[in-house]
Amino acid sequence: MLLGQMMEMPLTITAIMRHAERVHQDGHISSITVDNPGHRITYGDAFARARRLANALQELGLQRGDRIATLMWNDYRHFEAYYAISCSGYVCHTINPRLFPEQLEYIVNHAEDRALLVDPTLLPLVERIADKLPTLRQIIVAGGAVPDSALPNLVAWEDFIGGASEDFRFPALDEREASSLCYTSGTTGNPKGVLYSHRSTVLHAMACASPDVLGIGSSDSVLPVVPMFHVNAWSTPYAAPMLGSNLIFPGPKMGDGETLAKLINGHGVSFALGVPTIWLGLLTWCRENDVTLEPLERVGVGGAACPLAIMDEFRERHGVHVQQGWGMTEMSPVGTFNVPRKALADLPLDNARQVQVLQGRTIFTVEMKITDDDNNELPWDNEAVGRLKVRGPGVCSGYYRLEDSETHDAEGWFDTGDVAAITPDGNLRITDRTKDVIKSGGEWISSIDLENAVMAHPAVAEAAVIGISHPKWTERPLMIVVAAGEAPSGEELRGFLKGKVADWWIPEDVVFVDELPHGATGKVSKLELRKQFKDYEAS
Ligand code: AMP
Repeated sequence: MLLGQMMEMPLTITAIMRHAERVHQDGHISSITVDNPGHRITYGDAFARARRLANALQELGLQRGDRIATLMWNDYRHFEAYYAISCSGYVCHTINPRLFPEQLEYIVNHAEDRALLVDPTLLPLVERIADKLPTLRQIIVAGGAVPDSALPNLVAWEDFIGGASEDFRFPALDEREASSLCYTSGTTGNPKGVLYSHRSTVLHAMACASPDVLGIGSSDSVLPVVPMFHVNAWSTPYAAPMLGSNLIFPGPKMGDGETLAKLINGHGVSFALGVPTIWLGLLTWCRENDVTLEPLERVGVGGAACPLAIMDEFRERHGVHVQQGWGMTEMSPVGTFNVPRKALADLPLDNARQVQVLQGRTIFTVEMKITDDDNNELPWDNEAVGRLKVRGPGVCSGYYRLEDSETHDAEGWFDTGDVAAITPDGNLRITDRTKDVIKSGGEWISSIDLENAVMAHPAVAEAAVIGISHPKWTERPLMIVVAAGEAPSGEELRGFLKGKVADWWIPEDVVFVDELPHGATGKVSKLELRKQFKDYEAS
């Protein structure tokens, strides 16, 4: 073997920070926080504060690899915590505040978090379970003062770093060391921890930073409405400073259409990322208030299938191109991204829309395949539908402190739990979660395709389709709809679906509800819907 003669520089988050401090120190972060709705800081100053935080954390007597939790919204302090914690050799354990208290308790204890950085608005969640969290030594509350609380070990963030120096020598790290931890919000069983490394984080951020993925640069202002508390805000806290893009953070106002519209127009946001429900809220607010999103050029959407109706409204009303991505906690999280090839620009709009609604091609570093139940690989012909499996340096090889992982096969491929087809040119088309698949008369019906088709109806705000048992067909789809304004009849919706999906897919049963249940990451909870409709009798 002849080894190359190149420098062995470890791929660490510290290297991203060093690069950004040198070349993009004037790039900035704008945030809404509880103590300041219009905060702005340069990357240079944010990293200086991160070094003060690192100094203060060191005083807690922590060991390398210790877990430090964050329970925070997207803002500059959370950004500083990402870097101070990981670059010090500790593990930044981001916690989703929308989890149930029992799950929060389980997660903090399973990770054995030593300290917690928390937004004041989220402190009540901690107070409820604090006596059951024996490993937590220190709670640091974002802001300049500690709110009224009976908890003994609280300190205000600004006091905590107040006396700390800006000089801090971050340790030399092995690129394989753990950098961050995020628990999946699985619908069954306990949440499972995905432990990212410095190397996986840097490679993933570099892959995301390329033009055919996030496609951002130093002239962009990026609004991640995807949370930093779940799956690293799709790499934006790393990719943006790496490239010098400004970051615009909505703080606790993530779900507020008016705030998002004002941030976009007020800060010249060119690229925004979020789950479909966030965009539904923003589009509705803009429509009702006759506002257009002038500076916005592109929107990245993922986390759940994006209905064409959202893409169409962004294009028609705001001149914005929507790009769908797919991924999951176990994948850092981005797996695919849909950036159209140049040839598509010449296609008639209707054909281009059919491509736009796909989940896109894999980013470099991710490999994917689809298999049947016996693990035979299926062709990429957009027809064969099978289990979607992936591998790559940004894909988890197991779960934190969990001996057996049934999700990895003998060759190390990770079974995503998604069901998909792949087009001959490598575009992913997710049809379902394995657990949500509807099998009718021995054939599969895609709930996602049905939802997508019906959400194009102007009187439908949101829709979900689940399987209900049927004496003849084993299962039939039940369509559950939230109307936008006055509800159309089930018959009208059935008529609307004709020609858009196979006739035998069209649900006999359509019910209307006031709202759909959403889980901690903004996805419609089909588990909850199946519970709600378990006694529903198919007609
Ligand atoms: P999470 O680990 O919480 O990020 O959830 C990952 C899951 O969300 C995936 O396994 C998919 O089931 C779903 N998902 C993510 N993005 C998409 C998408 N663009 N279309 C359909 N499902 C998606």
